[in-house]
Amino acid sequence: MIIVVKKDAQESQVESLLTLLKTKNITPSVSKGSLQTIIGCIGDVSRLDPGLIEALEVVESVQRVQEPYKSASRKFHPDPSVVDCGGVPVGGGKFAVIAGPCSVETEEQIVGIAKAVKAAGATMLRGGAFKPRTSPYAFQGLGEEGLRLLSLAKKETGLPIVTELMEFKDIEHFNDVDVIQIGARNMQNFNLLKEVGAYTKKPILLKRGMSATLQELLMSAEYIMASGNPNVILCERGIRTFETALRNTLDLGVVTVLHRLSHLPVVVDPSHATGHAWMVDSVAVAATAIGADGLIIEVHNDPPHAKCDGAQSQTPEMFAGTMKRIKAIRQAI
Ligand code: PEP
Ligand code: MN
Repeated sequence: MIIVVKKDAQESQVESLLTLLKTKNITPSVSKGSLQTIIGCIGDVSRLDPGLIEALEVVESVQRVQEPYKSASRKFHPDPSVVDCGGVPVGGGKFAVIAGPCSVETEEQIVGIAKAVKAAGATMLRGGAFKPRTSPYAFQGLGEEGLRLLSLAKKETGLPIVTELMEFKDIEHFNDVDVIQIGARNMQNFNLLKEVGAYTKKPILLKRGMSATLQELLMSAEYIMASGNPNVILCERGIRTFETALRNTLDLGVVTVLHRLSHLPVVVDPSHATGHAWMVDSVAVAATAIGADGLIIEVHNDPPHAKCDGAQSQTPEMFAGTMKRIKAIRQAI
């Protein structure tokens, strides 16, 4: 962090600023020019609030030269992280395809879809048991029963399971879950992030909030990591913009930026990003081509009758076609 001191600052004010920095374990390096005094902050500035420093009367401006996240940063961990998801590695060249319905509905549904996506080449099964729905009148998920059905599907197929945790109190039922999803709506539920990070080292699939910047996404990953769980997978699922043609706006360039900023694997969700089943194939292929570490795709055996997100769910046949094109792209790159 670099602090630019106001031109008319008194010597005593600068001295108090230096003392303040030292109490925060920062070693200030002062460079006095004829026009301006600049203070370089040496040390761990991640706990220093730039807004607070900027608010001081003596300070003209503050510039960050270091990201506020450390554990998630590529600078402190140059190699890509490979996260083990119940035996399936993700990241560092290991590509995962997580597929399954938005919500678990019945045993027949989840086991049938699990078998179909596995046959097509998926490496993990998704399915929501606790669902964050916009309407309180919409299907809220089967809860614990949904987790039990996911376990059955895992037993039948051997696919590790990915499912969303909305409230920390439910985690005691997640013993057989391989990857815990924290959804877009909870990305900045900091207490949940802290509690989950301290409780388990199971991989966390952290979905980007619908109006979160990449820095905010990485800070949320940092919450989980700082609490003790280094196994975080980032998920880009599109953000809210003025555009209405797609359910969300997906900027695939984000994958490249996240890979530059962080060592954590980045998975793309073309289903929630587009909201339309017919778009999922091309976006999945594009996400693969740009270098995502995996995809999470909604697949339903009977999309028109799905209890959640039918419009964006691929049929198993569509998914099998997408898998073929993904494999071809993977080989090509
Ligand atoms: C989901 O994966 O079904 C979901 C609700 O996703 P998001 O949190 O990205 O909206
Ligand atoms: Mn969904």
